[in-house]
Amino acid sequence: MNYQYQRGCECGNIDSLEVSKIEAAFELNYLSFSKSECSKCGEKKMSFGSINSPEIDRELLTIWAENIDYLFCPLDEGLTLAQYKENIDLYLEFIDDEIINAEKKNVLIEALCVMIYDRVDKTDKEDLDIINKIATELKLRENQVLFSQHWIMDYIKKVSFPIIGVEYKNSLSSKVDKENHKDYLESIIKESIDKRNSKNKLWAKIKNIWK
Ligand SMILES: [Zn+2]
Repeated sequence: MNYQYQRGCECGNIDSLEVSKIEAAFELNYLSFSKSECSKCGEKKMSFGSINSPEIDRELLTIWAENIDYLFCPLDEGLTLAQYKENIDLYLEFIDDEIINAEKKNVLIEALCVMIYDRVDKTDKEDLDIINKIATELKLRENQVLFSQHWIMDYIKKVSFPIIGVEYKNSLSSKVDKENHKDYLESIIKESIDKRNSKNKLWAKIKNIWK
């Protein structure tokens, strides 16, 4: 699999930059590429940008866990990580690993709570099994969940915590409340969709959450 950044220009030219899987996953050097000049006309402003992001796997999660500045999706890592239901055991393994940074664990706990939230209205056996599995595993790690709760958005906690069996307390200290979060995402959503064509599924998901 090849990974590349692309920047489009009003003149019709599209410049591409081959990057590694790790660069693409964490958008390393993307900003400088997006600000570079069009190779055809010299224009600095790009009309669109795109990144083909790799799937999140053990290799990337390990690098992510070791580098506090590396983010999978600067907009919302929890939602991004929650797209990979095949990674549930992997996330739990990292949550249990003592050397993993606490902030990274917060994000992983949040991602698992989002996975529950995303499935509460589903009736498929697979979705119900996922809810049961995550709820059971997080109940076993109740202290960690409580430790991470300030990090998780209230609307996610309100739905997922009772299913896990952890007391939900409406907190003013949450990272952001739903409305602020919604406004924040809306303000950047267009640019983000342009930039991350490969993440359209995620944005569809986010828009679903708002409904
Ligand atoms: Zn141009």
